Amino acid sequence: MLRTGTCSPYVGRFAPSPTGELHFGSLISAVASYLQAKSADGEWLIRIEDIDPPREVPGSARRILRDLRLFGMQSERPLVYQSERTAAYHQARDRLIESGKAFWCGCSRADLAGSGRYPGTCRNGIPKGKLPRSIRIRVDDRIVSFSDRLQGKLEENLQQTVGDFVIQRADGLPAYQLAVVVDDAYQGVTEVVRGMDLLESTARQIHLQRCLGLPTPVYAHHPIALGDDGRKLSKRYGSDPITALPHASALEMVLRFLGQSCPSGLSQGDLWLWAVENWKLSNIPPASRYNASTPQ
Ligand code: GLU
Repeated sequence: MLRTGTCSPYVGRFAPSPTGELHFGSLISAVASYLQAKSADGEWLIRIEDIDPPREVPGSARRILRDLRLFGMQSERPLVYQSERTAAYHQARDRLIESGKAFWCGCSRADLAGSGRYPGTCRNGIPKGKLPRSIRIRVDDRIVSFSDRLQGKLEENLQQTVGDFVIQRADGLPAYQLAVVVDDAYQGVTEVVRGMDLLESTARQIHLQRCLGLPTPVYAHHPIALGDDGRKLSKRYGSDPITALPHASALEMVLRFLGQSCPSGLSQGDLWLWAVENWKLSNIPPASRYNASTPQ
């Protein structure tokens, strides 16, 4: 992208987990975050969230990056791989433990089965007979409120919904919530555009940012593609045939899903030019349904 001397403050990102192929649902997040960054003359970054080896599909990070490139999207800074960022997560974890904001927990999944939220069992020390397993962050009996650019004003009292939540799993791996917060700050992300399925993580992430003294980005959660049965497409199909379609048609479908009434029949290059010029976040409908059998 051409820069004209002034330093653009906008930094957006797409953060796929390499657990499958690029599908219609993930393409929506990639395109929405990309266009939001480009229309603000900002930077767009890709971060590979490969911190969960048990769920990783070998080769999928490479294929996701290849497919994004074929669609015309590339990270404007060197890629960040979360698997290479363990030291930063450990540092954040240690700070939280040292300041008393996080604590070791000895509860197993079986111990907690049936309790919707963490009941606080190990908050004041691990009871006799249990061994340290995971690490949890303390949450307060207080409302976390934020204003989502697409979903409006939201409020959550974490103590009532989830309770103290895990930042390091029992297998020793950093939890998604910690890694994403550390990395959004590390990469200087100013706005997070992602699917509504991650809306429920947002108050937790804001709480962690506050505990770590990190800035809170602006959030915009777009609707996710659901099939007629109301299930998330990626879950239903594993990978849908999005990359099997001509790229311009797939891009057109994504833009329409995002409420951008693009002309039909443009080449991929012209479609991008149109999209960057005409992109309006506010055109994204609050909720959408994607009919997999009759895409329009
Ligand atoms: N890695 C997450 C996913 O693929 C997205 C994380 C995020 O955008 O915050 O669902």
